[in-house]
Amino acid sequence: MFKGILIEKDHSGYRATVQELADEQLPEGDVTVRVSHSTLNYKDALAITGRGPVVRKFPLVPGIDLVGTVEESSHPGYKVGDKVVLNGWGVGESHWGGLAQKARLKGEWLVPLPEAFSPQQAMAIGTAGYTAMLCVMALEHHGVTPDKGEILVTGAAGGVGSVAIAVLSKLGYTVVGVTGRPEEREFLMGLGASDVLERSAFSAAGKPLGRERWAGAVDVVGSHTLANVCATTRYGGVVTACGLAGGMDFPGSVAPFILRGVTLAGIDSVMAPRELRLQAWQRLTTDLDLDKLSHIAQAIGLNDVVDMASQLLDGQVRGRVIVDVNA
Ligand code: NAP
Repeated sequence: MFKGILIEKDHSGYRATVQELADEQLPEGDVTVRVSHSTLNYKDALAITGRGPVVRKFPLVPGIDLVGTVEESSHPGYKVGDKVVLNGWGVGESHWGGLAQKARLKGEWLVPLPEAFSPQQAMAIGTAGYTAMLCVMALEHHGVTPDKGEILVTGAAGGVGSVAIAVLSKLGYTVVGVTGRPEEREFLMGLGASDVLERSAFSAAGKPLGRERWAGAVDVVGSHTLANVCATTRYGGVVTACGLAGGMDFPGSVAPFILRGVTLAGIDSVMAPRELRLQAWQRLTTDLDLDKLSHIAQAIGLNDVVDMASQLLDGQVRGRVIVDVNA
């Protein structure tokens, strides 16, 4: 038996509770992992609260991230005792996930835990941090170098935003954060932001084009915010879009793209190919300051996850949440 969060949906409603689960309940897979830590991402919070249609199969253990030790393996790439990390691939959505003490997965989904990170540090990064790295790599890929100008990061005090600021500032970029929590200004400046702007300056409907300011952007918010970010991006600039914390719509115009040559780069972490994942995790070992990471993350136990999920969707959680599934 092992402990885990189970999401159920039936005639009595939608609920997520901590339960004792049996090994026989685990889904099929060629690698069984003794999980040490998981995390709480925005998507996990949608799954746990039922506020978004994330769960595609009931009952389901949520958790799109996990780190742990291989307990059984028939996959040629992994042997008993290997330390592994998992992010995405539909785990925690359609396949049982990391918010439990055990998981059974496909070996091809796993990546080795980088030696530079402890299990806690890997989950302090988690999908949010690895996605932030994918955004930075996309900016680089499209030629946005630190000398090109300021980079805007929206949802700055959240998981993706805070890691993006830490990585960009370490790489020498000038980073401006956007937050709805002005009380987090000092935290964001500590991560390396050079300035912090109010969320309200971006969240209402704006003009097709505004004053050119950003050389690049990492947007986790979507909706009017994404449209306004594109409208104020400089000629030839690049906007990476990875989130929908403010809405899934994109009420913008093509003006920034056809008049200023702005590139809108979509970022997906869930189905990202293995090569790109390995590259992103490798980059995090060199481009993320571990001291800053320790300020970004807090740790909770399995029993605290359900309450924390609502707080996270209400925008009350700063940075990243590590879940110690054995606490
Ligand atoms: P998070 O920790 O909850 O951070 C989201 C942040 O967005 C909040 O902290 C808040 O920042 C801001 N925010 C929240 N509600 C808002 C609203 N209504 N309007 C404007 N800003 C709002 O979540 P996360 O884990 O960083 O994920 C952020 C987004 O990226 C989510 O939509 C998530 O689904 C998405 N995501 C996508 C991928 C991918 O593969 N594409 C991977 C990871 C995450 P402030 O308080 O600082 O304003």
